Amino acid sequence: MTVKLDFEECLKDSPRFRADIEEVEMDVNELETRLDKLVKQCHTMLEAGKVFCQNSKNFVAGLRELGHHFSPDNTMAECLDKFSKKLSIILEAQGDAIETIQKNVKSKLHDFVKQDVKRFKDVRKEFERCSETLDNALNRNAQAPRGKQHEVEEASNAMLNARKAFRSGALDYVLEINVIESKKKTDVLSAVLELMGAQAQFFQQGHQSLKELETYRKTLSDEQTQLVLNAAREKRDMEQKHAAIKKKDMSHDDSIMDYCADAATGIVMEGYLYKRASNAFKTWSRRWFSIQKNQLVYQKKFKEQPTIVVEDLRLCTVKLGVDQERRFCFEVVSPSKTCLLQADSEKQQQGWITAVQNSIASAFQDRREDTLSPRDRCSSVSAGSGVGQESESSSCKALEEVQAIPGNGHCCDCGEPGPDWASINLGITLCIVCSGIHRSLGVHFSKVRSLTLDSWEPELIRLMCELGNSAINRIYEARIDEITIKKPHPLSPRFHNCSLKQLIQELSD
Ligand SMILES: [Zn+2]
Repeated sequence: MTVKLDFEECLKDSPRFRADIEEVEMDVNELETRLDKLVKQCHTMLEAGKVFCQNSKNFVAGLRELGHHFSPDNTMAECLDKFSKKLSIILEAQGDAIETIQKNVKSKLHDFVKQDVKRFKDVRKEFERCSETLDNALNRNAQAPRGKQHEVEEASNAMLNARKAFRSGALDYVLEINVIESKKKTDVLSAVLELMGAQAQFFQQGHQSLKELETYRKTLSDEQTQLVLNAAREKRDMEQKHAAIKKKDMSHDDSIMDYCADAATGIVMEGYLYKRASNAFKTWSRRWFSIQKNQLVYQKKFKEQPTIVVEDLRLCTVKLGVDQERRFCFEVVSPSKTCLLQADSEKQQQGWITAVQNSIASAFQDRREDTLSPRDRCSSVSAGSGVGQESESSSCKALEEVQAIPGNGHCCDCGEPGPDWASINLGITLCIVCSGIHRSLGVHFSKVRSLTLDSWEPELIRLMCELGNSAINRIYEARIDEITIKKPHPLSPRFHNCSLKQLIQELSD
C-alpha cells in the first residue's frame, strides 16, 4: 500500500490529510515490526547456515577418510574422492552465499529500520508537537475577549507563529512520508535482489559442480548394478556350499585331515596338535602344525615365524608315542631330539603318522629325482657316462666324503675301523654287523644304506657330513658312564634285539 501525500492537502490540514497520515503511520509501524522480525529470522538462518556448513565440512572430511580406508580398492577410493571434492566446492559456494546475505541483505534491512524509520519517527514527533502547539494557540485566540486589545493581539500573533511552525513541520513530515514510501520499496527490493543473486550463484555453482560428475555417475551406477548382480550370484553359490557342508556331519574331520602331497601351497598337511614341552615341566600346548618343504614346523600366531621341529624329514622317524596319561600320542624322533605330540582323535593320530611317513618317503623320492638332473650331477662324472657308472662314482664320493668326517672312520656303535654302512636318519657310519642290528630294529628307528652299493644324492651326503659319529655320540652317549650299559667294541657278541642307541633312547624317555 502506498499513500502519496501532496503539499496542498498538507497546508489545508484537512481531515482527509489527517486520515492519510494516520494510515501511513500504521503502515510504517507494521513495516517496522515485520522488518525487525525478518532481520532476526535472517540472523537465525545465517547462524544455522554456518553451523550446517561446518558440519557439512566435517562430513566431507569423513567421506575423504572413508576413501583412504578403501584406498586399495580404486573404484571406492575414486568415487569418494570425486564426490567429496565436488561437495567441498558446493560448500564453499554456500559459505559465500551466507557471507553475501549477511553483508548485504541483513544490513540493508537492518539499516532501513534503524536509520530511515527512526528519522521518520523523529520528524513525526516534531510534527505532532507543532500540531499540539497550534491547537493550543487556536484555542487561546478563540477565547481572547473582544474588549482586551492587548490580549487579542498577543493571541493572534501566537496563533500566526504556531501556524507557521506547524506548516513547516507538516511539510517536512509529508516530505519524509514520501521519502520513506519510496525508500521502503527500493531498499527492500535491493535486498531481495541481493538475496536472489546470492542464491542463484550458489545453486549455479552447485549444479555446475555436480554436472561435471554426470558421466562418471552413470558409469559408476552401471558398475554398481553389475556388482549387485555378481554379489547376488556369489551369495547364492556360497549359500549352496554352506548348505552342502552343513548337511555333512560337522564333528568329523576327514576333510581337515586330507594329506595332499602336491598342494600348490607346499603345505602337504596342517592342523592343530598338542605338543609336550621338552623342558622339565613337560607342559602341553596346542599349536598349528604343518608339513612343508620336507620340514615339520609349528606356529602359534599367523604372523610369527614358524618353529622348526624337524629340519629335514629324511632324518627322522615317526612312531606311536606313549604317555602315561594322554591318548592319541605319537613321537617324531630326529637325531637331536624327540618330540611328543598329541592329536585330538585316533583318526587324526593315524592321519598325522601316515602323513609324516609319506612325507619322509616323498622327500627321499624328490632327492633321488634331483640327482638325475644334470645340475646336480657329481662333478667327477664325465659327460656321456651311463647311470650305472654315475651311481658308482657318487658312491665312491660318498664313501670318501662321509668317512672323512670326525669319528666316521670307525663304526659309531662298536668302533670297528672303516665302516662302509650308514644310518641316513641318524647320520652315522656303521660296520656291517652293527648295520644289521640297526636294520633289524626297523626303519622307524634307523634307515640303513650302503656307502658303496647304494646311490647317494649330494644333498644326503651334505646332511651326513653335518652330523657324523662324534656329534651323534655326544648326544646319545653323553651319560654313558652313569648307566650300567657298556659301549660295545668290535669283538663284543652280536646284540640281538636291541642296540645301545635304542636302549638309551628308551631310557631317556
Ligand atoms: Zn660296529
